[in-house]
Amino acid sequence: MNLYDFQKRLNFEFSEFGIIKTERYLKEASVLNLVFPEISYKHMIVVALSYPKRILNSTKNEHYASMYTFGRDYHLVLKEKMAKVMQGFDYEYEFAVDNHPFDERLAAQLAGIGFFGKNQLIINPSYGSFIFLGIIFINLAMESEIINKIDDSCGDCRICIDSCPTNALLNPGYKREKCISDFNQTKKILSDTEIKANYCLFGCDICQLVCPKNVNIKTTTHDEFAFSGKEAIKVRDLFTFSEKQFRKKYENMAYLWKGKTILMRNSLTLLLRQKNSDYNDLIKQSIDKHPMPWYKNTAQNILSKLNKSKNPQPE
Ligand code: SF4
Ligand code: SF4
Repeated sequence: MNLYDFQKRLNFEFSEFGIIKTERYLKEASVLNLVFPEISYKHMIVVALSYPKRILNSTKNEHYASMYTFGRDYHLVLKEKMAKVMQGFDYEYEFAVDNHPFDERLAAQLAGIGFFGKNQLIINPSYGSFIFLGIIFINLAMESEIINKIDDSCGDCRICIDSCPTNALLNPGYKREKCISDFNQTKKILSDTEIKANYCLFGCDICQLVCPKNVNIKTTTHDEFAFSGKEAIKVRDLFTFSEKQFRKKYENMAYLWKGKTILMRNSLTLLLRQKNSDYNDLIKQSIDKHPMPWYKNTAQNILSKLNKSKNPQPE
């Protein structure tokens, strides 16, 4: 297969792609003091796959994670598409999606997939920030690079900064530990402030939803990201299923990445928001049975708040 056919395949499988020399990435990463491992591949193919903007609100008995988890797990989808592109291509290569030591957003910026927004996301002219990123490390027989021209920026806009409920976004920069999407995906005891701020089962969509660059964008839905029905997580399943049973029922969903316990903990914060004490007995049982102190501690704290809201003390 020649390079032209290879690029045709990339175009067919992905929404956008760019090809940069690894040395370009390493040079920029050094300037930014980023840590990276040794790498022998000469090229990085940066791919982007769009996903649709869809909002589903949690109900009393069903909770939802961030919209990036809707449909089949994007890690699997990207790797499957990368494998299709590489089929019959006799070069050595490696795939990287999400969990690896390279900064995908930096690579995407350098490849011209989009510009780096103040919401810390790559913003593409056609798909906004609703794109998944991945990298194919490879040695290609080409000297040039394929870098898309991006002529856009946030400019004076600061809507996401002003809309972030926890003031995690700065101008410039970001306080990771304040971000809902960061702390609700971290296995730890949630503070009262974090419990109060959390509104999503896993992740946070606010700074994408408010962004004007995400208006009037292309809204293609790849079949893989069509709703599977497993977007709605039954609260009862969280508190009655074993990890194995839960993984079986909700298999191939991106929110499973950190396991069920973190979803249980986050679900508790949504129950508290809803003042929903229907599951108090199940929560109590989960505290008695669960081995993880970070879960027990947060669950006990939320259960006592739920009990108080169910039986308010006289003034
Ligand atoms: S993901 Fe949510 S909490 Fe994090 S920066 Fe964006 S709006 Fe703020
Ligand atoms: S909301 Fe405004 S400042 Fe934030 S990423 Fe979008 S364009 Fe940039």
